[in-house]
Amino acid sequence: MPPVFRFAPSPNGYLHLGHALSALLNAGMARDSGGRLLLRIEDIDRSRCRPEFEAAIYEDLAWLGLNWEQPVRRQSEHFDEYRAALTRLDAMGLIYPSFESRAEIAALVAAREQHAPWPRDPDGAPLYPGDAKTLTPAERARLIASGAPYALRLDMAAAVQRIGPLTWLEGGSGHAADPAAWGDVILARKDAPGSYHLAVVVDDAALGVTDVVRGNDLFHATSVHRLLQSLLDLPAPRYHHHRLILDADGRKLSKSTQATALRERRASGATPSDIRKVLGLD
Ligand code: GLU
Repeated sequence: MPPVFRFAPSPNGYLHLGHALSALLNAGMARDSGGRLLLRIEDIDRSRCRPEFEAAIYEDLAWLGLNWEQPVRRQSEHFDEYRAALTRLDAMGLIYPSFESRAEIAALVAAREQHAPWPRDPDGAPLYPGDAKTLTPAERARLIASGAPYALRLDMAAAVQRIGPLTWLEGGSGHAADPAAWGDVILARKDAPGSYHLAVVVDDAALGVTDVVRGNDLFHATSVHRLLQSLLDLPAPRYHHHRLILDADGRKLSKSTQATALRERRASGATPSDIRKVLGLD
């Protein structure tokens, strides 16, 4: 079986040099290994994703010279699969609803930080500080019946206890996973029956992805992905996290930075081979 690679952008802005690096590395590894290259549109967040950004992704990738298989998988067309995974995790007693708003969560963190620093996840965000896990079934049922919006969270302590130590293959060597560092992550958003972590794991398995090539900003998230793969009996791909392209101030590129958008470069006359040079690929 040939290896299967995927590039998985979110259509919430225009692709920039960092995306180009990821896409070109995926394409190069697929080519060198006689593998397949898939494209996945990560559009769970309906409030931020727009059709014109999706159209621009196809256009920019084709301009770069990429070829990918059809059909393209769009996360928004697979909500049933995410629901099925949530049902399985629920049957294991590993998820619970949490009802707090962002502002309430910020206030809880501030209150906890009056006594001692509150732990943060590898991305620097405070761990979930609430106690929704301890609500009684009756309290949960009452809140849900009242129409209060809720997210579904993973009971991380219980999940880690169930699975035990985990590793992943990073560039061919074993790396110890530490999912507990993320706390009770969200697996279904208030507005969608899934979250990035859940969808990426379900999708990679559904597509038969064998090799995940993506930026180093997602290195630590792999711990959560390995845990979910293990809970859901899904195969573990090999991982290759690559360097990030930084802006002049040393910050990660964002979709709002015009100067590094591929279409801006193209509009100012850059060729695909100029892009490869800027990325240090030639
Ligand atoms: N959609 C994610 C992004 O645009 C990438 C997800 C992944 O490669 O796992 O950053």
